[in-house]
Amino acid sequence: MIYLDHNATTSLDPAVFEAMRPWLEGPCANPHSAHPLGLLAEGAMVEARSQVARLLHADPAEVVFTSGGTESLNHALRGVFEGRTERRRVVASAVEHSAVLAVLRWLQGQGVDVVHVPVLPSGLLDLEALTRAITPDTGLVTVMAANNETGVLQPVAEACALAKAQGALFHTDAVQALGRIPVEVRAWGIDLLSFSGHKLHGPKGTGGLFIRRGVRLRPFVLGGEQERGRRGGTENVPGIVGLGKACALATERLAEADGICALRDRLEAGLRALCPDAAVHGQEAPRLPNTTLVSLPGWEGEALLLRLGQKGVCASVGSACTTGQREPSHVLRAMGVPDALGRGTLRFSLGRGTTVEEIEATLAILGALLQEGPGRP
Ligand code: PLP
Repeated sequence: MIYLDHNATTSLDPAVFEAMRPWLEGPCANPHSAHPLGLLAEGAMVEARSQVARLLHADPAEVVFTSGGTESLNHALRGVFEGRTERRRVVASAVEHSAVLAVLRWLQGQGVDVVHVPVLPSGLLDLEALTRAITPDTGLVTVMAANNETGVLQPVAEACALAKAQGALFHTDAVQALGRIPVEVRAWGIDLLSFSGHKLHGPKGTGGLFIRRGVRLRPFVLGGEQERGRRGGTENVPGIVGLGKACALATERLAEADGICALRDRLEAGLRALCPDAAVHGQEAPRLPNTTLVSLPGWEGEALLLRLGQKGVCASVGSACTTGQREPSHVLRAMGVPDALGRGTLRFSLGRGTTVEEIEATLAILGALLQEGPGRP
């Protein structure tokens, strides 16, 4: 199998598994137990927290462990508005992940005014529209760091400065960004950042929320005083140890992004050679080094994906969370891509371990499929 679906999830790095192993096989006490094994577990969590904080350029005390990206962004978005009577307006980009959009719909049901800011045809946030959308009654601005479908990197620091100028908090969904590009919470100035373990070769069901010191946020999971009262429930020590190790490895390996980018560029060049009218979405904007979302005019993305899968290539038509929907994605629509083109998309997301041989083999397989012809509507 050739795995080119790293934006959907990544496999556990063997070194992460080794770091977790003692906590899965041997005794793993409750980190709040006042005995030697409890202290050992607590120590492992302290180390993991600082490994995560190092990757974020944050203080360890600003990191709250959660069950993943979805929980983190629920915590951030709902936590800002719960119990608040003033500044009940949230401003978001039109291309947020479906998990953020779902929480925004929920907030709307709670009487929060939700405003979606358009993106330019490049996929980049329209900063002028953002400036107009942030009013003095805005409580929160949320803009994703990297788009899961196109890989487009949003101008998070600029968007954050605009939020700050109006006294609003700023959250970024960095689920796709962390581990793939440098993420600097301090330099960007942000208040809240959501991330996930399984996108950076850590364990599934792990993640976290950066909460800048001084930001007051209602806890989302009630039930205990864990995580300094910010998230109830006995901590998943093996998962947290794995997340910490994954972040430590990502810190070391950020420099490998250039190699992945070169493979992605080779893939795009090969796709254009196979299909000269192929359109790479977001190519005018800065993008994640590992992602390409390409439309092959006249082809059905789902049909190609199925046939690629039969030949051993795992890719996607866009977001894994929306696979099966016949509607073109809201991201492409927001970028003004015509629906006919939006239906013919394939997303290839490369990762640690992707080889040039795999890229060449993928191009050969795709070339043969395009030659065969059936599948063309
Ligand atoms: N945000 C983005 C941009 C994502 O791509 C995803 C997952 O695909 C999520 C949030 C949800 O993260 P998790 O799967 O850890 O809940």
